[in-house]
Amino acid sequence: MKNINITRKISQGMYVLTTNGGGCIVDAVSQVSAGDNPLIAVSVMKKNYTNELLKKNDKFALSVIGKEVNPEIIKTFGFNSMRDINKFENTQVREVDGLKVINDSLGYMVCEIIDSIDNETHTLFIGKLIEADIFKEEKEEMTYAYYQEHKEELLKVTTEKGKTAWVCIVCGYVYYGEELPEDFKCPICGVDRTNFKKKE
Ligand code: FE
Repeated sequence: MKNINITRKISQGMYVLTTNGGGCIVDAVSQVSAGDNPLIAVSVMKKNYTNELLKKNDKFALSVIGKEVNPEIIKTFGFNSMRDINKFENTQVREVDGLKVINDSLGYMVCEIIDSIDNETHTLFIGKLIEADIFKEEKEEMTYAYYQEHKEELLKVTTEKGKTAWVCIVCGYVYYGEELPEDFKCPICGVDRTNFKKKE
C-alpha cells in the first residue's frame, strides 16, 4: 500500500520567488547545505511563467512570507501570471542585486543558480545563497499548513446567501450553480473540480 498523504506532514513555508521579469508563490523551499553560502533548493511548476524565466536567469530571490502578510501579495503572486498582469505594479518592492524582493515580507535570500533538475511537472532549482537580510526578526513565518487552515479568512471568501456556491479550495474563486460542469477548471488557478468545496 501507498498512502502519499504522509507527504502532507512535510513542513513547508510560503515564499515569493522572484527573478528578472517575474515571480510567483512557492512552498517547496529547503536549505540543503550549511556554511556561509548554503544551498537553497526551490521547486517550481513547469507551467509557471517564472519557471521559463528562471531558465534564462542566473539568480533568484526568495522573500519569506509572514503570517501577517497582506493577502493581496498571495493573490497577486499566487493566482496570476506575468503573461497577463504586471505583478509588481501594485506591490512595494526593493531592489537587491538587480532582483525585486517584497517589502511586506520577513526578509529575503538572493541565490545564484548553480544547478537544476527537471521532472515531468516541476523543475528543482538549486541556488547558492549570496545575499540575505531580515526585515522582521520577531514576526512568525507563514507555513503552508497555516495558509491551508486560514485560507478562507485570509482570502476573504464570501458567498451570496441562498445560492449554492462552489469554492476553490486553492484560491478562493467562487462558482455559483447546483453542480460544477464535468470538465470544470478554476479560471483563476487552474485546478480541476475535485478541488471545489460546496457551500449552501
Ligand atoms: Fe482556484
